[in-house]
Amino acid sequence: MNQPSPDRYARQRQFARIGHDGQHRIEQSDVAVLGCGALGTVAAELLCRAGVGRIRIIDRDVVEWTNLQRQSLFDCDDARAGVSKADAACRRLRQINDLVELVPEVIDLNAGNIERVLSGTDLVIDATDNFPIRFLVNDWALSTGTAWVHGGCVGAAGQVRLFDGSAGPCFRCLVPDLPPPGIIDTCDTAGVIGSATHAIASLQVTEAIKWISANRQFVSDQVLAIDFWNNKIRQIDLTPSLSPHCIACVQRNFEFLRGDKFAAGDAAMCGRNAVQISPPQQGVSIDLEQMAGRWQAVGSVQSTRFFVRLHFDESTHLTLFRDGRAVVQGTDDVARARSLVDRFVGT
Ligand SMILES: [Zn+2]
Repeated sequence: MNQPSPDRYARQRQFARIGHDGQHRIEQSDVAVLGCGALGTVAAELLCRAGVGRIRIIDRDVVEWTNLQRQSLFDCDDARAGVSKADAACRRLRQINDLVELVPEVIDLNAGNIERVLSGTDLVIDATDNFPIRFLVNDWALSTGTAWVHGGCVGAAGQVRLFDGSAGPCFRCLVPDLPPPGIIDTCDTAGVIGSATHAIASLQVTEAIKWISANRQFVSDQVLAIDFWNNKIRQIDLTPSLSPHCIACVQRNFEFLRGDKFAAGDAAMCGRNAVQISPPQQGVSIDLEQMAGRWQAVGSVQSTRFFVRLHFDESTHLTLFRDGRAVVQGTDDVARARSLVDRFVGT
């Protein structure tokens, strides 16, 4: 039986902008944390300690040793056992605050399941590592009028902005089209420092708390972009007039939510113990030499005129072709294959 502690949220209530009313609203809220990595673990912990009533943790991956440098809810036992991130996070969060209802979802989010997984949530924290998912969430948020807080961080730089799910501007006013595969740095190719991801996740949660505690007038309408290494802070205006024809918030053409793009069918079993992931966009041309250069620091790389291959271990490798197709050998798990492509190719 849970025994509410009268003192648990005292300091948060004392903060006048939240007060008793704001705290009550926080405790009535349902927040989904999408992705339980560097941003998601920190965001989930802050939301849990703040007393959000229900938190859904959505992630398809298992805990790996390379996660521990920055993903604060996990420990050596989790990495050794290779437990799912969503389950490990919820177990730890229950120890932190057993008043919160925690819902783990070990799932590869896509157009076919987003309705069920996010239905009824008040706000989504974007702690993902790829653009197709963000485009999908953007469509879903606009179609349901749900707020979400975009966050991204690679290296020592990141950015944050809350999109309220009503009329624009939306995420596609900021990023109109999917970047081609292999162009964007990822944490797995360019590295990342834990202090930067903690800071970006904290900024996301600050915007989220403003939103759910009825302090919406304090939510920033600019993209806050910070380069922590070079000490640069930029606030980027994002007004509807910048994208008068936005396909998502103006035309309300939700191509990612319909599954026209980035459908589950983009992944296919490819022979025995291999999965092929097609690029979400047509006409892709990968610079294989550049990709090979990025992978040099990651593992053993094999290059030919036709493909570049990254070996993770003796049995698992990722082969990337010039047209953007990727084949992950050594698994028949589509979610794991997709995760490796997102992390090491970047989509
Ligand atoms: Zn838009």
